[in-house]
Amino acid sequence: MSHTASDHDTSELLRDVGLRVTAGRLAVLDALERMPHSDAETVRQALTDSPARLSLQAVHNVLGDLAEAGVLRRIQPARSAARYELRVGDNHHHAVCSSCGAVTDVDCVVGHAPCLTPSGDTGFAIAAAEVTFWGLCADCTAASPSSSPASAAASPDTPDTPDTPDPAAPAGAAASTPTEGAAP
Ligand SMILES: [Zn+2]
Ligand SMILES: [Zn+2]
Repeated sequence: MSHTASDHDTSELLRDVGLRVTAGRLAVLDALERMPHSDAETVRQALTDSPARLSLQAVHNVLGDLAEAGVLRRIQPARSAARYELRVGDNHHHAVCSSCGAVTDVDCVVGHAPCLTPSGDTGFAIAAAEVTFWGLCADCTAASPSSSPASAAASPDTPDTPDTPDPAAPAGAAASTPTEGAAP
């Protein structure tokens, strides 16, 4: 569904940005190709039965290097660990499930940054708008006992939460954070 670098030789990807090709880097790229939007711990677990077993710290180092080199994109939804993906170089957004944390790509309608402009004059030269859509993924919607789409954070094994409003659980769409005012 999402575009990855699967048709691109991963060693070549590393050489292109001047990084040394190592087994660890290749293994991390391979894991992210299979599981986009994974965090470091998920990547580490994916590599436990591969020849390139890495410590969590080593995974963090590799992810950091690759993100810095522009091979990976790093996203960090609120209250989540940093996640990484191979889909770089476009202005796509993400939908995040506020119950299970599932992340999926959302194509940008405009296709380039910034795809949103502030309503007022900020005096900033806006470079990008970071858009995260929050809601319930299809699985969580199906598993949800009530039909209310907004009962996001209610966990099924806490009997004493009849209808506590949860201000921390954003429902629906659009938390947008315009970042980085610097001109390119
Ligand atoms: Zn979910
Ligand atoms: Zn993505």
